[in-house]
Amino acid sequence: QAKEHGRNTYCFFEATMTTGAAERLHMENALRGAIARNELFIHYQPQIKLANEVLVGVEALLRWNNPEFGQISPAVFIPIAEEIGLIRSIGAWVLEQGCIQLAAWDAAGFIVPRIAINLSVQQIESTDLVEQVKAVLQQTKIAPDRLELEVTESMLMRHVEQAIENLYALRDLGITLAIDDFGSGYSSLRYLKQLPIHRLKIDRAFIEHLSENNNDGAIVRAIIALGQSLGLYVLAEGVETQPQADFLRAQGCHEVQGYLFGRPMSANDLMNRR
Ligand code: C2E
Ligand code: MG
Ligand code: MG
Ligand code: MG
Repeated sequence: QAKEHGRNTYCFFEATMTTGAAERLHMENALRGAIARNELFIHYQPQIKLANEVLVGVEALLRWNNPEFGQISPAVFIPIAEEIGLIRSIGAWVLEQGCIQLAAWDAAGFIVPRIAINLSVQQIESTDLVEQVKAVLQQTKIAPDRLELEVTESMLMRHVEQAIENLYALRDLGITLAIDDFGSGYSSLRYLKQLPIHRLKIDRAFIEHLSENNNDGAIVRAIIALGQSLGLYVLAEGVETQPQADFLRAQGCHEVQGYLFGRPMSANDLMNRR
């Protein structure tokens, strides 16, 4: 059973595994019914301000637990959901559940200042994204500035008019936008000053082997400096060790996310941590 190996391990289907065509079809069909069967749930990972180590937000990370496949990594099932046209309904569900959870924490007296939700390319290019976001904020009474949406560089580099329009409309609503996995994709730096971006999330590939005197250290320093000069906030992902956190703090990185400060966890575990 997948569960026995703990919440944060995915036994059967890792991103690196190749699945056969029949198995893949089988998984597609299982995914189609996953919402209705209550197999999807969300884990929340703390985002911490380095200056005072206070919780400033959480990132919502989708989980799928299927009786047959076990826990499947989002790196595996999100691309499938995108291919079979399911990601818009799944994405809408994550957005709604995340905001409902933020309101529920509020009601319990546990204040999480901000929630970050990952968007797929089909969502950012969708004509009804903005209306959907508006409706969820109204329904849950969540202030727009507590919602952050994450997009990747590659989504922006497609230069799709609707996506650009959506970014501005979301900004006008008061929502903040973050670039996820920054530094890992193909990108142009020009869009950083042209688009209404609020935050850069440094890809965790640069954090993994971070040291004061290697290339990753130089790249991370440069990204933080870039953020500072463009007036963008910078968050480093995948921070696992104290030396990494110390380096980032010394360089002026604002926020961090990573196993050192907390793994993705259930809503209850987050509220009861420490
Ligand atoms: P991401 O948005 O870049 O999320 C960060 C990933 O890094 C998460 O993987 C998180 O569990 C992992 N992580 C966080 N801290 C550490 C650390 O200290 N060390 C290591 N080794 N890993 C860390 P996860 O949860 O497996 O999600 C993978 C990707 O799936 C996400 O990457 C995101 O691109 C996508 N995803 C997850 N939930 C959603 C969703 O609701 N919608 C969409 N469209 N994509 C999602
Ligand atoms: Mg993300
Ligand atoms: Mg990321
Ligand atoms: Mg990613």
